Amino acid sequence: MNQKGGVGKTTTTANLGAALAEQGARVLFIDLDPQAHLTLHMGVDPETLERSVYDMLTDPAVSAVDVAQQVGERMSILPAETNLAGVESELASLAAEGRAQGVLREKTAALLAQGFDYVMIDCPPSLGLLTVNALALATEVFVPMQAHYLALQGLSKLLQTVGLVQQGVNPSLRVTGIVLCMHEAQTILAGEVLADLAGFLEAARPMEVPWRDAVVLQPPIRRNIKLAECPSFGQTIFTYAPQCPGAHDYRQLAQSVAGMGARGA
Ligand code: ADP
Ligand code: MG
Repeated sequence: MNQKGGVGKTTTTANLGAALAEQGARVLFIDLDPQAHLTLHMGVDPETLERSVYDMLTDPAVSAVDVAQQVGERMSILPAETNLAGVESELASLAAEGRAQGVLREKTAALLAQGFDYVMIDCPPSLGLLTVNALALATEVFVPMQAHYLALQGLSKLLQTVGLVQQGVNPSLRVTGIVLCMHEAQTILAGEVLADLAGFLEAARPMEVPWRDAVVLQPPIRRNIKLAECPSFGQTIFTYAPQCPGAHDYRQLAQSVAGMGARGA
């Protein structure tokens, strides 16, 4: 989740998920962005879908089981199509019944009962009802960002949204951490932004907030052109260029994430 565009959300959802699957986990991807970039990245053409996550969210007759597609070994996706753009207003119309925030959770319960180790949700670049639905279903929030000027701008608003959903409908929601994307460690700027970020996270430690334990996840994902190329082939980095630095970084990140889960259990 990050309401900024172009920070590495989709790249991280696809390749962190694929790395976890490569390591033996069963992974479900959910594309909640009307741009359908994750769907394309996983090799599904959003134009040819009979049913998408949009139909699932808006049509009582369509279930997640109807929409899910297998996209590789141990990987399935609930794909998006571009008319997901209208879904925010359709979700808003469920507010009267008290279902506007929880329809994703409601509609995926039966599919999730089939047993996935990880559900990777790619959020749109906004803090609207689609993102709120993701937060109502999630247990952990990952915030991809670039160590640029203004990287921290918007972070308070993002965390405030997480806090509201945690208090309202999902008490177990936690912010696991920040994933640094397109990272250029050698720049002075990146160092300064990281110091600011560390200070920001440190200040939350004594507070009763869902980001009190958030960390900067390791390793940062280096800028690597292969990561930018693979979506246009509908492939994750692990089939497109399995030995490149991007594949290496996402494999290492998956190991950190899996290790954190083991500690939390
Ligand atoms: P978001 O989903 O937040 O909008 P994307 O994951 O689509 O961001 O990334 C934005 C652009 O940057 C895309 O073109 C993507 O291919 C590219 N990109 C993301 N991560 C990297 C990286 N580590 N190295 C090089 N290019 C990257
Ligand atoms: Mg995206």
